[in-house]
Amino acid sequence: MSTDKVVILGGGPGGYEAALVASQLGAEVTVVDSDGIGGSAVLTDCVPSKTLIATAEVMTEVAAAAELGIDFHDHEGDAARTIRVDLARVNARVKALAADQSDDIARRLDKEGVRVVKGRGRLDGPGRVVVDGATYDADAVLVATGAAPRTLPSAQPDGERILTWEQVYDLTEMPSKLIVVGSGVTGAEFASAYLALGIPVTLVSSRDRVLPGEDADASKVLEDVSIRRGMTVLSTSRMESVTRDGDVVTVRLTDGREVQGSHCILALGSVPNTADLGLEDAGVILKDGGFVYVDRVSRTSARGVYAAGDCTGVLMLASVAAMQGRIAMWHFLGDTVHPLDLKKVSSNVFTAPEIATVGWSQKSVDAGDMLADVVTLPLSGNARAKMQGVRDGFVKLFCRPGTGIVVGGVVVGPRASELIHPISVAVAESLTADQLAQVFTVYPSVSGSIAEAARRLHRFEAGRTS
Ligand SMILES: Cc1cc2nc3c(=O)[nH]c(=O)nc-3n(C[C@H](O)[C@H](O)[C@H](O)COP(=O)(O)OP(=O)(O)OC[C@H]3O[C@@H](n4cnc5c(N)ncnc54)[C@H](O)[C@@H]3O)c2cc1C
Repeated sequence: MSTDKVVILGGGPGGYEAALVASQLGAEVTVVDSDGIGGSAVLTDCVPSKTLIATAEVMTEVAAAAELGIDFHDHEGDAARTIRVDLARVNARVKALAADQSDDIARRLDKEGVRVVKGRGRLDGPGRVVVDGATYDADAVLVATGAAPRTLPSAQPDGERILTWEQVYDLTEMPSKLIVVGSGVTGAEFASAYLALGIPVTLVSSRDRVLPGEDADASKVLEDVSIRRGMTVLSTSRMESVTRDGDVVTVRLTDGREVQGSHCILALGSVPNTADLGLEDAGVILKDGGFVYVDRVSRTSARGVYAAGDCTGVLMLASVAAMQGRIAMWHFLGDTVHPLDLKKVSSNVFTAPEIATVGWSQKSVDAGDMLADVVTLPLSGNARAKMQGVRDGFVKLFCRPGTGIVVGGVVVGPRASELIHPISVAVAESLTADQLAQVFTVYPSVSGSIAEAARRLHRFEAGRTS
């Protein structure tokens, strides 16, 4: 029996996780990557930003330390102002950690017998990939080429003061005033992080609230907290252009207003890396915006060509890219496969406070797309949160009336990314609110609020049957 040959374009989470599965299932695997194993996720996006945010988290805690009785010998009470962040050191750490993570993944691929080819690949028909003149025949190709920051002709990054999110780690000095354009997840995370590092931040948002795609109650908490901590949030303010004159960056808004700062980060979304890959000639249909059309087992419209990750635009998360890649290989190589279910994806916005969500949303419930009972518990009533000086945030649970099955949840607070997990398990395994409520939680713990919210949902159920 001949061995299946798999060629993967792109070494990000969509590509390398697929490679590991394919090699485990006995295929001969080649990964072609142009910019470094780990992809943007590891080298420029996810890993670097969360490493920067790790420093920001410490600063957020330091800023709140006085309330907990810690004296930094600052008689004005604002401890954060007495502590200086060395951005050059922070960024050196970010880059070293990202490079190290990339090396770890490359070593793992090597250990599992995956061949890595450095270069820019393209399809030459559905079953062949060309890299710098060399050809690689494949029984299946996985396209996992990711996406790149969107820029506009009127807002061109210069790598020094007008920056994409990939360029911020070259900064060696603290910006004296930072403008972040775009209030989606990336914009909100950078605005929140740099504010915590002690930089005055203006967030320019074209929408009426930050994080328009997230739970509205959660966005409100984040916006209120950010403003309270000193951020300037310009809502319904659409950027027209970003220009630089010497050390001054000017963001001009479509209504004629101007905002000036020392630096500007553009967080305008992403464009897929799908141009000049030979995709359409190979029979791969692209959607609007150039994203690759895929079904729930990562098949494209061309036989034997799969796609995963940001280039598909399905849900731009490293975790989703990785799962799409694994699913593609399980499907192609005949292993058990469950189609991708976006309602089981948990995600997090790494702001202060964090916002984590899973399953059906409040918006869907309000629109009548999902009938659900909802309970929201503010963290201000939680004993552990009180001890930690945490006042902002909440736990929200959605469950089906009648069955009581948990269909979604939101956690807003420190470490929400960790706290969402029990709700994700409940959603994935169709557990009921009662089952979630009956699981012991540690006392005192913030996760106790999840069990308490589940107990309160029992009231709805009891009320309905009595
Ligand atoms: C600032 C920021 C923070 C983020 N934080 C998180 C987070 O906390 N959690 C999370 O889940 N997601 C996060 N994301 C999203 C996450 O980074 C992406 O969803 C993820 O990188 C997608 O993985 P991928 O494999 O599709 O593509 P990528 O990681 O972009 O990898 C694609 C690789 O393919 C290479 N490539 C492109 N074209 C070719 C070619 N022709 N030939 C060979 N190689 C090619 C690229 O150079 C790259 O190495 C973040 C995104 C941003 C912008």
